[in-house]
Amino acid sequence: MLNATGKIIIIMPEPRNGGSRHLPPVAHAPHGNHGSTRHAPQPGSVDPVQQQQLAEHHIADVRRFFSGIGVTEREGNASNVPVVFDPSFENAAYVRQIDTRTNQMVGESLQIGVDPESGESYAKAKDVMAHEWTHRITNALVPGLLTGAHFGSDMAIGESLADTLAAAYDTDDWDIGEDIGTPVRNMADPGRYGDPAHMTDLKKIYESGDERVQVVRRPDGQHAFRVEGHLLAGIPNKAASLIGDAIGRDKMAQIYLDTARNNLQPCRGLDGYAAGVMMSARDLFGPQSREFQATTQAFDAVGLLDQVKAQREPSRR
Ligand SMILES: [Zn+2]
Repeated sequence: MLNATGKIIIIMPEPRNGGSRHLPPVAHAPHGNHGSTRHAPQPGSVDPVQQQQLAEHHIADVRRFFSGIGVTEREGNASNVPVVFDPSFENAAYVRQIDTRTNQMVGESLQIGVDPESGESYAKAKDVMAHEWTHRITNALVPGLLTGAHFGSDMAIGESLADTLAAAYDTDDWDIGEDIGTPVRNMADPGRYGDPAHMTDLKKIYESGDERVQVVRRPDGQHAFRVEGHLLAGIPNKAASLIGDAIGRDKMAQIYLDTARNNLQPCRGLDGYAAGVMMSARDLFGPQSREFQATTQAFDAVGLLDQVKAQREPSRR
């Protein structure tokens, strides 16, 4: 899914220095609504047949990109999935049909709709197509990550991975969705669209009154932030952009693909994700490499390295 729909929330640990200091509110805009910079909607301006063809064309190109970086058909890169342009759908999504009795996936599709703000078809946005396709690959490589995606930081990890590999495909900038108007996110500057770029930003966003960050009491009595997944993705997105800028987006993609294949499991939190990315960089390039160093510096810059160090090192593959 490209944008947030409904109240999808996740639990995050409370930052250490909670409480007393008052922080000024930060600018907030909900996803897909950035005010006057948007075009006026142009209902009826989208030709469904043309947009269906464009969506299929872009998906075929995205498949070639993933094939080129070594993603196999068994890893979610096969063409056997319907691509459906639906002008009444106000988002873009990789949709799985689940049989609730057996919990098995019985069908899947890519649903490509129209941005309600700009009136533009998401089929025009190459990175949005790559984002949704990455969800399919992630579903094949990391079973269970999307299943529990609406709870826990798994959703944020899935969204960030989709943005990261989309940015390895559409390399012009760190924007997501710029081809249809105002971007929905910027990976290098998440704050531009109200998303956090550092763990400490969650507190500021909560104090700004943003409903997508809530404080809840956990069963153990501790308080925790519950954060909508697309919003929370800003933190790992910022780290990925730093890695991409330091070592290039090809190596960035190589590292994140290896992470999804070997070092990512559901329910490990953002720090578990950071640990997995660092482990992949170390395995691929060596512990003394510039590439591994780029990953540790990036996760340090977003406030996740201390948490990684604090937890026991995950088991090797
Ligand atoms: Zn998504």
